Amino acid sequence: MSDKPDKRSTFPLPLSSVTGDARKSPAFAPARVAKPQVATPQTATRNAAGNGAQPNGAKAYVPRVAASPSKSHSDALLRAQPLPLVAPRPDMGVSDAIRRAMVARVARQGVKDTVVLGALETVQRHRFIEPALSAQAYIDASLPIGHNQTISRPYIVARMLEVLRNGASLNRVLEIGTGCGYQAAVLSCIAKEVYSVERIRQLHELAKTNLRHLRIVNLRLHYGDGMLGLPQAAPFDGIILAAAGLEVPQALLEQLNVGGRLVAPVGAQVQHLQLITRTGKAEWMSETLEGCHFVPLRPGTV
Ligand code: SAH
Repeated sequence: MSDKPDKRSTFPLPLSSVTGDARKSPAFAPARVAKPQVATPQTATRNAAGNGAQPNGAKAYVPRVAASPSKSHSDALLRAQPLPLVAPRPDMGVSDAIRRAMVARVARQGVKDTVVLGALETVQRHRFIEPALSAQAYIDASLPIGHNQTISRPYIVARMLEVLRNGASLNRVLEIGTGCGYQAAVLSCIAKEVYSVERIRQLHELAKTNLRHLRIVNLRLHYGDGMLGLPQAAPFDGIILAAAGLEVPQALLEQLNVGGRLVAPVGAQVQHLQLITRTGKAEWMSETLEGCHFVPLRPGTV
């Protein structure tokens, strides 16, 4: 898999080509449309879909109709039943179509969990990225979110959530590294209760701002050192780390339910996803999965 962004000439697209609706917040004021002729919905959809396909025999993801804007975000929650093949509706926003194409690409890359794919289709990734970059929101790349941190590529977000879920429903989940809040929003679609911890105060505030309009009732954001976990909300069925340590902090292992799963990038220059399952009161099982590249897990708060 490649961490390289899609450098096709049609990107970056003007923001207006990926946003399906007028943005209310001045922070999301649409950029000027420089070259509308290259930024058609069709082109953007093709680009979002075309990047990173892998002939790995994964079953094609069949997208569903995007969540109706009138429904609350968490309504889309756990709604991923068998997904009917649908043509884009005439009233579907351009960003919906591009996001569906992104999800189709992630499915081709090997993610099969339809609950995860449905959640990825629900959350508007472009709303979590600064306006200058939001035209790149649906390409297969990590993107800067300030403070030397990045939002992970859609594929890796999906893959980690698939591993975390393992096909079962999740009750209480902890995320370490809220960043801009995107993955937390996706998590809120696949788990009953989500807690997310961020150590950089300004990113914690950014996530709050990004998430406010979604009014996600099952998500709690905390400012603090996630290496200590969140003892007041423990134990968790699932813990997911969005930053790589040399090892998984012991406090997090202790805050897993027996039977619970933790997914984390581990390593420095060379990193791998690690899946740790708590198999008993004092027993954990660890599996090393695919390679990855994450920002470092750091102690303390700033
Ligand atoms: N899930 C995020 C990805 C953010 S990048 C998103 O969707 O945007 C990883 C984040 O982990 C960074 O914001 C970084 O500040 C944070 N982080 C690193 N070490 C941490 C720690 N000990 N506790 C909490 N957050 C931490």
